[in-house]
Amino acid sequence: DSNLDVVVRGARLGVRYVLLLVEDRSEAMRLEDVRRDFVANISHELKTPIGAISLLSEALDSAADDATAVRRFASRLSEEAHRLARITQEIIELSRLQAADALKAPELIDVGHVVASAIDQNSVAAGARGIELVRGGQKHAQVYGDEALLIVAVHNLIANAIQYSPDGGRVGVGVRTSDGLVEVAVTDQGIGIAPADRERVFERFYRVDQARSRNTGGSGLGLAIVKHVVQNHGGEVRLWSRTGQGSTFTLRIPEASEARAAALGLESA
Ligand code: ADP
Repeated sequence: DSNLDVVVRGARLGVRYVLLLVEDRSEAMRLEDVRRDFVANISHELKTPIGAISLLSEALDSAADDATAVRRFASRLSEEAHRLARITQEIIELSRLQAADALKAPELIDVGHVVASAIDQNSVAAGARGIELVRGGQKHAQVYGDEALLIVAVHNLIANAIQYSPDGGRVGVGVRTSDGLVEVAVTDQGIGIAPADRERVFERFYRVDQARSRNTGGSGLGLAIVKHVVQNHGGEVRLWSRTGQGSTFTLRIPEASEARAAALGLESA
């Protein structure tokens, strides 16, 4: 039994090390649990839209003479197919990000451009809800990284900010540089996140209110992807929130510099 083995090996090393090794072992078991949950969650997330698609196509078939019903079922079918496509895409993105600790070929990126693209991608969704997207702070700031991934990260934060804001609300996106870090802050005046959920929202598939979040069509992977993108860029993501008043998610990524280039093994800018 490997637990016993740990204790026996530990005993030779002294009591302090026994504790350390046992903790190590339980960390391995915890990771195994996390992996098993991940697979179970993926299966569940995929089964839901697949089940709906199969029911809807049967319904569509038997409603062939009723034009209104056909249109309704067809539009639901298309929604579920999009949902399935998005979840699959997110799972692939997350697996890729998890497989790599660091970026393969970091390039000099303008965060101002990243923010502009992410805002652009969300402008239709914001407009449909009468939400104003307000950009502030620096126009430009440079980091080394992967532009497409950074756009995905900022996009996810803005999409959430819109999702959890009241109609007609305001979402702010600001860029600034502080202490050698480029910060992108996305602020909303939405429902906020309770203290107990603030760590957990970054977990894969975690949603604060399962029933309500499911209605919004989310997969619970958005923030897990944000966290991995930022970590792969040598940065971190911070969350400030007050329940009922709103949230601010801040990405903090090392600013491009000669030292940063050297650390990444690049020719400096
Ligand atoms: P989802 O696809 O469900 O939005 P995310 O990983 O992006 O998944 O977010 C996880 C959960 O965190 C969401 O389901 C929601 O409950 C909560 N959340 C994320 N962003 C916000 C926000 N700006 N305001 C309030 N709650 C949020």
